[in-house]
Amino acid sequence: MNAPVSGMTKATTYLALPKGMLINGRFVDARSGKTIDVVNPATGAIISKVPAGDKADVDMAVIAARAAFDKGVWRRKKYSERADILWRWTDLILANIDEMAHIETLDNGMPLASAMNAIRVGVSTIRYYAGMCSKIYGHTSEISGGGQEYHAYSVCEPVGVAALITPWNGPFATACTKSGSALAAGCSAILKPAEQSPLTALRMAEFALEAGIPEGVFNVVTGYGEAAGAALASHPDVDKISFTGSTAVGKTLVRAAADNMKRLSLELGGKSPVFLFNDADMSEAIPAAAMGIFRNSGQVCFAGSRLYVQNDVYDNVVSELAQFAEKVRLGSGLDSQTQLGPLISEQQRSRVMNYVDSGKSDGATLVVGGSVIDGPGYFMKPTIFAKTGPAMKIVKDEIFGPVLVVERFGSIEDVAGIANATPYGLGAGVYTTDVSKAHRVAKEIRAGNIWVNCYGFTDKTLPFGGYKQSGWGREGGYEGIDAFLEKKAVYVRL
Ligand code: NAD
Repeated sequence: MNAPVSGMTKATTYLALPKGMLINGRFVDARSGKTIDVVNPATGAIISKVPAGDKADVDMAVIAARAAFDKGVWRRKKYSERADILWRWTDLILANIDEMAHIETLDNGMPLASAMNAIRVGVSTIRYYAGMCSKIYGHTSEISGGGQEYHAYSVCEPVGVAALITPWNGPFATACTKSGSALAAGCSAILKPAEQSPLTALRMAEFALEAGIPEGVFNVVTGYGEAAGAALASHPDVDKISFTGSTAVGKTLVRAAADNMKRLSLELGGKSPVFLFNDADMSEAIPAAAMGIFRNSGQVCFAGSRLYVQNDVYDNVVSELAQFAEKVRLGSGLDSQTQLGPLISEQQRSRVMNYVDSGKSDGATLVVGGSVIDGPGYFMKPTIFAKTGPAMKIVKDEIFGPVLVVERFGSIEDVAGIANATPYGLGAGVYTTDVSKAHRVAKEIRAGNIWVNCYGFTDKTLPFGGYKQSGWGREGGYEGIDAFLEKKAVYVRL
């Protein structure tokens, strides 16, 4: 009997194969013939090439998606058939979880255990939405007025052709959230993964075909944001954009979507505050607050990047955080001891290091880290600044790297002012053993997600999204599928 082939071997075999974009049920090259090098951020080595799709390819994908939608090959299927196919898709992904997780780690740099978890979470999100195919309801309504009798009801219909644009920091999980909800709603979809980490999207596209998702219903176009992403954003035949990425690009999408009034869902950036009260259980709160920023090397939209510590415990907490940061193990995601992988690219690492320089020149105290690791790959040390001020760039801007600023606060009366003094509103945390204090803080902060005595846990059953410039709309829960539905009222005169 042959020994089972390892996930790493399968992933390496997959990386070596030529890659096409999935358009209308076929894997094709970019019409320009151009490709994008895919780099392993842990080594800097080119591990694969994907097509550099642009407007011409987007046009083909939109034609395919529109035709599939208009013919009704997916939206008119019985809900149970759609659910079965989505479930079959996840079965195929799960049957190849080791390979998928290795691809994600090689592409994005995250530790393999995180990648395994991401594949499981992504699959369970698609399954959650598969279950929701049978729970898309309108309602009947009693009509008063008009002097006539009516039977009136509302129905939900899929919004149409949906472009799903994802970032590089959680490639598979974001692709699943968007694809699962869009397809369960009955839309046709065009997934545009980030150019830095497109590989699991292409591999899941192969499983989508094998599972029986009809041609044209699920398409994947790889390419740069300014080319493929922008072409989707301005395309007159795209009805909906579901975007996860930076607030700056989110704003360009708002403008680009205006011409045909596309529906927009935007999951954007953050600068999330965390409050550590003097009555917190420090043995749990300090490591949790540290991993609240350092997880995925700080490349998390809801990273707890601003930590506020109550005055009398401030010095002690800063010193324990520094000890924690010094012990965190950096390395290749393939090493089982690794807690933090690299940043996604040299460009991102130098962007983060520019923030470190600005913190120093603005007079903040660098407590720990603040340097890169010599050698291949884009590693940088977990970094903590103390004695910062609210006007500093490192306190105001989303850095998207492993950089924590730690400031003082006096009492619960200060929390709302400090927390809400930001254009963002994605997440916030509070550590305290006083349950009433926890609820008061949760009520005061204008953010879409509040964590009490934990940080960053999310579940598909709850709405996820941001207040203010952290976004529009919500993913997860019923809100997630609702974002891909139009509502129609029907009046029947009796
Ligand atoms: P980004 O905005 O640069 O890119 C995101 C996606 O948009 C990529 O696929 C990119 O190719 C595409 N894109 C870029 N320019 C475009 C344009 N002009 N038109 C259309 N598409 C374009 O973001 P990033 O650097 O890949 O990811 C990091 C950002 O994403 C951070 O700001 C982070 O907070 C945010 N993010 C938010 C969430 C959330 O759920 N709120 C989750 C993850 C990441």
